[in-house]
Amino acid sequence: MSLVQPGNVEELYELQDKLGSGHFATVWRCRERSSGISYAAKFIRMRRRKGSRIGIERKVVNREVEILQQLQHRHIMQLHDVFICQVQMVLVLELIQGGEFFDFVAEKESMSEPEASDFLLQLLDGLVYMHSLNIAHFDLKPENIMLQQKDVIKPKIKIIGFGMAQKIEKNMCLVSRCGLPEYVAPEVIKLEPLTVVADMWSVGVITYILLSGVSPFQDKMENDTVTNIIKGTFDYEDTYFNSTSAIAKDFISQMLVINPKERMTSSQALLHPWIKPLTIKQERNRESASINITNFRKFNSQRKWKRACESDQEDSTMPSASLLRRRHSSYS
Ligand code: ATP
Repeated sequence: MSLVQPGNVEELYELQDKLGSGHFATVWRCRERSSGISYAAKFIRMRRRKGSRIGIERKVVNREVEILQQLQHRHIMQLHDVFICQVQMVLVLELIQGGEFFDFVAEKESMSEPEASDFLLQLLDGLVYMHSLNIAHFDLKPENIMLQQKDVIKPKIKIIGFGMAQKIEKNMCLVSRCGLPEYVAPEVIKLEPLTVVADMWSVGVITYILLSGVSPFQDKMENDTVTNIIKGTFDYEDTYFNSTSAIAKDFISQMLVINPKERMTSSQALLHPWIKPLTIKQERNRESASINITNFRKFNSQRKWKRACESDQEDSTMPSASLLRRRHSSYS
């Protein structure tokens, strides 16, 4: 990882095409001039004045940088470099080239449960690592689960989107910005003290959708979605779950538990028989099951449609690049 050398981002990196955007960030492909290696440059708009609603507070961006600096794992996007000026911060990140995991699944003819559970295993592997450092992601959703490359025999999951990640302090009450209601745990909504296990609720929602193409708590109105999450009631309707194994449902049910103390942790999930079958019976139960690909495709195209409408409203201008590079280690 290159750390020092003063200069501005465009002196060291050639900016190329736009890869994506979020509320306050735009991500561009770039090429490091010295090495020729491609990266993703995330331009984050920072708040200019206290009380302004545009941009993110500098301390929040600094927190994202500090967290990314601590994380080095095969299933977690790596931070390579950082630039800063008054109004923007640029994170130069490992380039993830395989697109979103959900888009990859939607392009397939079918997917068996063992295949699906292998992707979950990778996601959990990354989460066990993060959680062992007491870092919670707090924004796990399909957009933040990508693939390193997709045209390979075994695509590798990469977790991205650490803008809301936090190192958990004792009895922590979060958060200035909240994840998408569809995926957030009840304790986040209720502003209760949080632990890393809040992420496991999101993994439960993501797995439920992956297997059925239905979102367990989503309603037409956001308020109703929130009420559904707080109640925590859901079922496995036969119309959507007729090809799902009992063991997969058990895996999900152990994560969609209202009381965080009773919810399965990431290390427990990694040992769940849906992820690592212990007996031949469990293995067979999983092998004969598959995801509901037809309905999943429907869910995914609706999700993409919603996102496209949202991003139409966002600013997509080329970022100004007069940003002075600062050492990673100099943030505080
Ligand atoms: P955050 O989730 O951290 O608050 P954000 O939603 O504003 O931030 P990101 O999720 O980090 O922004 O990125 C926005 C989009 O840019 C992603 O959905 C993805 O499509 C693309 N993207 C982000 N990081 C990378 C990367 N390292 N490689 C390729 N594409 C990326």
